[in-house]
Amino acid sequence: MYSTNFCDNICRRKIYCYFYKKLYNSELLNLNLFCISVRDKRVVVLTGAGVSAESGVKTFRGNDGLWENHSLDDVATPDAWIRDPQLVWDFYQARRNQLTQVEPNPAHLALGLLQSEIPDFTLITQNVDDLHERGGSSSVLHMHGELRTLRCEVTGETELRMTDSDLSQNFVNCNCCETPTKMRPDIVWFGEIPMFMQKIYQMVENCDIFIVIGSSGHVYPAAGLVGVASTYGAHTILVNYDLPVNADMFDEVHTGKAGELLPKLVTEWLD
Ligand SMILES: [Zn+2]
Repeated sequence: MYSTNFCDNICRRKIYCYFYKKLYNSELLNLNLFCISVRDKRVVVLTGAGVSAESGVKTFRGNDGLWENHSLDDVATPDAWIRDPQLVWDFYQARRNQLTQVEPNPAHLALGLLQSEIPDFTLITQNVDDLHERGGSSSVLHMHGELRTLRCEVTGETELRMTDSDLSQNFVNCNCCETPTKMRPDIVWFGEIPMFMQKIYQMVENCDIFIVIGSSGHVYPAAGLVGVASTYGAHTILVNYDLPVNADMFDEVHTGKAGELLPKLVTEWLD
């Protein structure tokens, strides 16, 4: 089941070395390592806001953390939706409209290529835009929800709603109920539980390589997944613009723009 590539440069290409951690302190370190192609590995990737930011997606969290003088507590909580649904709706309609003005960047495209070459590949994202899908990725686990879909509050059904009329200031009604009801943004608000967590933990616990890209390391539970991957023996890799608070939890760290680094890294990983 293993391929037979040799790896001469442990520093540059240690991602290929399945037994890297076990060999690190052993006498075998000075020998050529018997490596396994990344294509044969179970790979899980987690992406965060840094990847979207390079496409110009405004996160509303940067600088002052405000949106038109409203705090995120005013527009991104279940209470806010009850208190002032129009304000919350306007906030998310602005973000949904923004999707039509941004394009996937080379990081998105590189991940689409990586997925196409690896049979056992999972992409988890904290991002709510659809740039991964437009960059060639599929079956993306959007743990914080998605902008392009809306959710019926009665049935929990989601619908892809991105026509011009869906993107106006008017509320959008569902198609699932006998009496159509106002849909909410399909977004995990502050105070709500992220989506797919059982599946995400299962995938991270069982992967060989866990790669985090453009994530600050501040937002849990996403920030804790590297600890889970490490505990279960995965090789962990970080690609981030700068060093986040949890950088020392990774086996391998690459700092810089994801759009510049990832195309090169993916080429190396698939070499
Ligand atoms: Zn409904």
